[in-house]
Amino acid sequence: MSEATQEIGFAETKALEERYLMRTYRRAPVDFVRGEGPLLWDAEGKRYLDFLTGISVCSLGHCHPEVVKAVRDQAELLMHVSNLFYTEPMARLAERLSESSLGGRVFFANSGTEANECAIKVARKHAHRRGVISPEIVSFENDFHGRSYGALSATPGLAANEALGPMLPGFRAVPHNDAAALREAVGESTAAVLIEVIQGEAGVIPTSEEALLAAREACDETGALLILDEIQAGLGRTGSLWAYEQTPVRPNVLTSAKALGNGVPIGACVTGPEAADVLEPGDHGSTFAGGPVATVAALTVLDLVDDPMLLRRVRELGAYLCERLEGLAGVRETRGRGLMVGVGLEEGIDAAAVGADLLERGLVVNVPRSDTLRLLPPLVIDSDHVDHAVSLIGESLLGFSAG
Ligand code: PLP
Repeated sequence: MSEATQEIGFAETKALEERYLMRTYRRAPVDFVRGEGPLLWDAEGKRYLDFLTGISVCSLGHCHPEVVKAVRDQAELLMHVSNLFYTEPMARLAERLSESSLGGRVFFANSGTEANECAIKVARKHAHRRGVISPEIVSFENDFHGRSYGALSATPGLAANEALGPMLPGFRAVPHNDAAALREAVGESTAAVLIEVIQGEAGVIPTSEEALLAAREACDETGALLILDEIQAGLGRTGSLWAYEQTPVRPNVLTSAKALGNGVPIGACVTGPEAADVLEPGDHGSTFAGGPVATVAALTVLDLVDDPMLLRRVRELGAYLCERLEGLAGVRETRGRGLMVGVGLEEGIDAAAVGADLLERGLVVNVPRSDTLRLLPPLVIDSDHVDHAVSLIGESLLGFSAG
């Protein structure tokens, strides 16, 4: 075994982390070493059912054999040459993404944040072309678009952290789902409305049809671009390839990442024809982005996810999951669409304590806010997995009843 793959055990891993990693994450006390389909194993050999998938990333399950094979074959052939040259998988993936959505051009990135950075550049340059001197991007409060300064400035909750300031100028936010406030905020200097179809990090809060329509209409009236961030909600998660397909609006730009590589980092900013030619040579770039390994992984993901049977199953299983959860003592409501589910707990129940207890019981979930569990299971689960997860959540909640 080489030094890079040497196993050192949980205690030593933790000690190394404490000494050498920046303290940007509060980690759960588990050291995962293996994954297969919807299952994970920790360093002690304990098995977990994964209803989080690395935050909506491993949607086809861990180590999907076809993705693994595509990555392995490509890694043996060619791993990287940079964007100074043509590579076939990148061109094919761009075609696939464009033809399945908005029909314009694609810029590849390495993450969701970077996909949004590209979208922000497209929006600002598009606005400058219309003669706008100080372009503005409008988002919803509690939206999450990433953590680099552009994406962060469009993430109002985190942008309020003055210790990281100053943020970029030209960003404003209105209350989530306040259609009137959104219309009011969008004017001649608006470059784009950048919003999530379903707010994920905020606790799985769908954006209303009324708010989406208001955004679309306000953009049409002013010439601003509607950018939908589908980084968490896209790629089959809600039961359609793109989340916007189940809404009355079509964006001018959409951003994708997370599940696009099923674990291999890749992001994409996809435009409609109206914004396809905004960026020109020199405006943007990335050394790694769109590399052959990541793009063959994504091509394989799209082959498997863009399947009407699978997408129908996601909608059916999502409905079944919510119905079963709503029958549990301690559950106040479920929110979301398809297999993107927020479980609102009754007042007095600490979701963080329930999440930690579920991890002990062998179910991986996430707690985006103090009253909500977030479930983002693999899209390839079956009803037995749903039943198992629901029974673990039910057992756990019995120990945390509000009374
Ligand atoms: N946008 C949304 C909706 C997200 O959920 C996330 C990540 O959680 C991002 C953007 C940022 O993506 P990344 O962490 O890949 O940079």
